[in-house]
Amino acid sequence: MPPKMMPFEEALTFFQTCLPTLVEKESVPLASALGKVLAEDIVSPINVPPAANSAMDGYALNIDQASEHADTKQTPFQVSQRIPAGHAPSPLVTGTVARIFTGAEIPLGANAVIMQEEVRVNSDDTISLLRLPSANENIRPKGQDVASGQSILHSGQHLNAMDIGLLASIGINRVTIFKPLQVGILTTGDELIAPGTPLQDGQIYNSNGPMLQGLLTQSGYQVIDVTHCLDDKAATESVLQNLANKVDIILSSGGVSVGEEDYVKDAIERNGTINLWKVAMKPGKPIVIAKVFNTPLIGLPGNPSSTLVTYHWLANAALRRASGQAIQRPKPIPVKASFSRNKTISRDEFLRVSIQNGQAKPHPQQSSGALLPACESDGYLHIPAGFEINQEDSYDFYPFSTF
Ligand code: AMP
Ligand code: MG
Repeated sequence: MPPKMMPFEEALTFFQTCLPTLVEKESVPLASALGKVLAEDIVSPINVPPAANSAMDGYALNIDQASEHADTKQTPFQVSQRIPAGHAPSPLVTGTVARIFTGAEIPLGANAVIMQEEVRVNSDDTISLLRLPSANENIRPKGQDVASGQSILHSGQHLNAMDIGLLASIGINRVTIFKPLQVGILTTGDELIAPGTPLQDGQIYNSNGPMLQGLLTQSGYQVIDVTHCLDDKAATESVLQNLANKVDIILSSGGVSVGEEDYVKDAIERNGTINLWKVAMKPGKPIVIAKVFNTPLIGLPGNPSSTLVTYHWLANAALRRASGQAIQRPKPIPVKASFSRNKTISRDEFLRVSIQNGQAKPHPQQSSGALLPACESDGYLHIPAGFEINQEDSYDFYPFSTF
């Protein structure tokens, strides 16, 4: 049966939802949580900062008391205490000021801090104010950053360095995360050899294996095995069985069309269940989501640009879900096209473009077999099926870094 042509948006929704979470949770020290997927919602148990503190080195005072003096600039104020950061203050003695440093708690009774550059220190160690500060000036209020009870991070999000800092700021030293998804890569084809060996007639180098390994690693997944398999029925079957025993999910490239040499498809059909679609996207097309030897498998097309685009757009969506991440479509940036095209096509197109003078300029080479154009581009310009391209109209641009 010829594969069904599935509209791109339908395929994306399917890939976003088709797999269950395949990984378990574990508690890890904060230092090991970078790049991992959070498996709990985080609600802050404290205010950050826990108490109002000074944003400047200066003097804490009560502006209502200070303004009672007819001539603030001349009036000397006693410095009744010194409050370095980390030391608890005493309540402010009425009519005096407190020497205070950045990050030190504001004493009870003070309602402003004047910068040290805005006072005159008199010979008797009193100070005079060069101006009267306004209420709450240079005071960072309690809970300014995070309020006690505030929900700050959510299960399913990737923890970046800022998140780690935020968790530390609320006193958390361990978090529950999802264990990294363990992936096995399978590349296929008699024509492929590993880089580092001289090419014989009819051969090309295997670029998808190393590329997929890089893409998976960049996304935070653990590549357990990278295997290449010749176009052979028995070999394909035994390699798939071996991978299935070791990993949470298999990612393959090539061998999934409907040709006589497409052994991955055949092996799955004999040992599991298969959904094979032609997704209406360019580059792209044949893509598989399957279960083989009881293990999920995503089968990407073999042409390197198709492999890249279907990884970024479809495999990634399924892997995100399998690894415990929240469903999230990459975030587009509207960018004007640098060109017009009257011709429409019936597939969603992902042009490799570079941004020049604020406009998206397509790489002249858009062949699905070519990889250099992607390396020379900044990201994808998404042209939905049936759309013309009008210079000056905006389209969704997705930098490669968003995937
Ligand atoms: P297939 O889907 O196996 O028919 O492969 C489609 C095209 O992609 C063919 O031209 C293959 O030579 C090429 N191809 C398949 N796998 C790889 C790979 N791992 N690295 C580079 N090119 C590949
Ligand atoms: Mg092949």
